[in-house]
Amino acid sequence: MRKLKISNASLEFCCGVSGQLPRSDKSEIVFSGKSNVGKSSLINKLLNRKSLARVSASPGKTGTINFYKVDKVRFVDLPGYGYAKVSLSEKKRWAKLVEGYFAQDRMIKLLIQLIDIRHDPSKDDLHMLEYLSRMELPFVVALTKCDKLNKMMYLKQMERMQQILKNFGVKEVIPTSTLKRQGIDELMEQIERTL
Ligand code: GDP
Repeated sequence: MRKLKISNASLEFCCGVSGQLPRSDKSEIVFSGKSNVGKSSLINKLLNRKSLARVSASPGKTGTINFYKVDKVRFVDLPGYGYAKVSLSEKKRWAKLVEGYFAQDRMIKLLIQLIDIRHDPSKDDLHMLEYLSRMELPFVVALTKCDKLNKMMYLKQMERMQQILKNFGVKEVIPTSTLKRQGIDELMEQIERTL
């Protein structure tokens, strides 16, 4: 039996400035990752929806924190970072928004950090991992797009990622593919365990 009822999930707020963040009155499950890592696809898969979160053909489009109401909790979709073509002023606004979010005393139960299994963590990813480990926020890493590797490369990258990530106190590394529906139930179980 699922603990979380996902059938009525809906987009509740989109927030572009930290002054307008909704009050933290529900447990929050946060999703973070670089632009185009597959965050919207993963949120949609977890919620069993086609396009609740916007899957973008062109990366770097969403500069808001999006809050989804999922039963008694909120899924919080942070803006994807690290997209080169975004202007410096936009990047600064996003950084302020995300820092503003974390600076608040919010009921963060779990953060899911997404990293593409094919590539070593970027500078921004490492920055985020350091921040998470310093803040002692409970977090897991979801490796995305696992279907894009053959079995040998997959095993090689899994081992490599485990090596890199263990330095940051990652609780769990969960390989996922939205295409093959890999890791979705594991991730949902992980979420439900924290509630
Ligand atoms: P976001 O920018 O992090 O929200 O990423 P999106 O969910 O919009 O996905 C970016 C691109 O990656 C899209 O073209 C998706 O179809 C593709 N994608 C996402 N997840 C997967 C996956 O598990 N496997 C494959 N092959 N492609 C994926």
